[in-house]
Order: sequence, then structure tokens, then C-alpha cells
Amino acid sequence: MSTPNKICKDGAAKSKLSNDDVCEMNMLRQLSMADNVEENVSVCANCGKDNASNICNKCKMVMYCNAACKKKHRHKHKKQCERRVAELHDIELFKEPPPKDDCPICFLRLPYLGTGQIFMACCGKLICSGCVYAPLYDNKGNEVDNKKCPFCRVVAPKSEEETIKREKIRVDMNDPIAIYKQGCYYQVGANGYPQDYTKALELWHRAAELGHATTYNNIGVSYENGIGVEVDEKKAKHHYELAAVGGDEVARNNLGRNEVRSGNMERALKHFIIAVRIGDSPSLDLIKQLYTNGHATKDDYTKALRSYQTYLDEIKSDHRDRAAAFSDEYKYY
Ligand SMILES: [Zn+2]
Ligand SMILES: [Zn+2]
Ligand SMILES: [Zn+2]
Ligand SMILES: [Zn+2]
Repeated sequence: MSTPNKICKDGAAKSKLSNDDVCEMNMLRQLSMADNVEENVSVCANCGKDNASNICNKCKMVMYCNAACKKKHRHKHKKQCERRVAELHDIELFKEPPPKDDCPICFLRLPYLGTGQIFMACCGKLICSGCVYAPLYDNKGNEVDNKKCPFCRVVAPKSEEETIKREKIRVDMNDPIAIYKQGCYYQVGANGYPQDYTKALELWHRAAELGHATTYNNIGVSYENGIGVEVDEKKAKHHYELAAVGGDEVARNNLGRNEVRSGNMERALKHFIIAVRIGDSPSLDLIKQLYTNGHATKDDYTKALRSYQTYLDEIKSDHRDRAAAFSDEYKYY
């Protein structure tokens, strides 16, 4: 989580650039430079003089002597610049999202499904459903006395109010998940919080800026449906993209479905493939639909099935299965 995400003007979502991505970007740059002598890095694209040092800050591909040369060249460069910006945007958008953290107890990858990972308001850890369930119930499924957090050993809250109180303390500590959750309470008016969309959005922006990618999806949904804000499809898409790049599978699915509605099946398929790889089963069904309607190949669908199986192999465990069998509250895929 170090390099600022290129599609984010807010500078909030962070993502890693792997060596491969850097290579890919350099390769693309070299390819387009070979196409066009104008793009020699030290020659002004407008007047051809050497030692140009003023870069086009949109595409970062063309140099100028100064602002005047840049302005003169604008109408010639505009199309190529926009094309390159779109290319760079897509490289960021369609690259492998960061992996989910491991559960700090069993060290298995945390499932993507919300009920498969539980936020501990005591220590702020996300713990898998299996590890939360195991110490709370005996072999017969009866609740044990003296329930404790499996990570920090603090005695579990005795009531919903106590949980909410603990979460509030975590909000004051700038815990992004606690802030995100409080935003959700304000959105619907729950757990002692009044319904207040403005407050919800304010909290979500704060959580997102602290690196909680999923929050951007909620902001996107607000813009798509005009909840607490004016309907704004552009902003909705922008926030879905931020969430998706940060590894949120629901936002990835949303982007795919928007592309289907716009008739861009190829882009839709690309989104769904990534979503399935990170555990989104609804996207698998949508790939099947694309295949049925002739917009995806059998190979695409087979590969998607296989990558979903790989995901399941990574997250499946006996203790998670036991928890899921005990209650849907612990369902993890
Ligand atoms: Zn010049
Ligand atoms: Zn440019
Ligand atoms: Zn675990
Ligand atoms: Zn704890």
C-alpha cells in the first residue's frame, strides 16, 4: 500500500505497482514513442528544441520548453494525450487487486464474503468466522461461559450496546473499519444513531481516505442511486473504480454490470474475471450468462470456474465449515 493510485485524484486509495506493471508501462511507452518521433523525451514536441523540461502532466509522455509551447501544441496533442490517459487508466483498473489479508489466528486467507470475517471492536482485528466461532461454543454447539476475543483475549461484549460503545472508541482511534461501520449505522439509522446521509457520507470518505477500499463502493452506490447526494453516474463509476482497484469484489461486479448495460461486453467480462478470482460468485454466474449469449468463450467460462475453485481452495477449512454449518451468520462463501 505505497504508490498512490493513478485513477484517484483524491489520493486516497493506495495500490502497489509490481515490477511487471512497471515493465508493461515502460513497454507501452516505448512502443508509442517508436511510433512517433515527436515524443522524444528531451525534445520539445512543439518547437523541436532540445532540453525541454516541461512535461505534459496528463499523459507524462511529451515534453515542452515551457508553458507557451505546451499551449500552442495542445490542439495537436489532445487526441493522443487522451488516448494515452485512457490507456494508463485501464492498466491501473484491470491489474490484479491487492490480496485480502490473512486471518491473524489461523493464517488462512480471509474470505471476501462479509459474514466470513468478523470485526473485533476490542482490538480492531478482522478474524475469520471459523476462529471467532471455535472458542465460543463447545462440541455440542452450546455457548461457553467467559467468551473472549480469540486475538486479544478481552472479554467479549455482553450486549449489542457494549459492542457499539467499543466501536465508538475505535472510531475515536481512527480505525477505518469502525468508521465505515458507523457510517453504515447513520445511513439506515441504527444502533442508536439517527438516519443521516450526510454524516454517513462524511464518515465513509474518512474511512476510505484511511485505506478502507470497500467504503468507496458505498459512496459509489450513493451516487448511483442519489442517496444523500444528487445522482451522478460519473462520480458513481469513479468511486466504484477506486473500490475495485483497492480489491473490493462487489464494486468490481458493479463496474462489470454497468459495462453490460452500456453494451461493452469485453470490458464487462474483464471485470467479472477479476471479481471471480477474488471470490465473487455472482460474477461467475454473469460470465456464464455472457457465454450463453455468445459474449464470452467456453474457455473464458472454464477458466473462471477454475479460478473460483482456486479461491475456494485458499479459503476453505474445517473450522470455517463447522462455523458455517452452525449458523448462516458464519457463512463464508
Ligand atoms: Zn518549445
Ligand atoms: Zn499529454
Ligand atoms: Zn481464522
Ligand atoms: Zn480483540
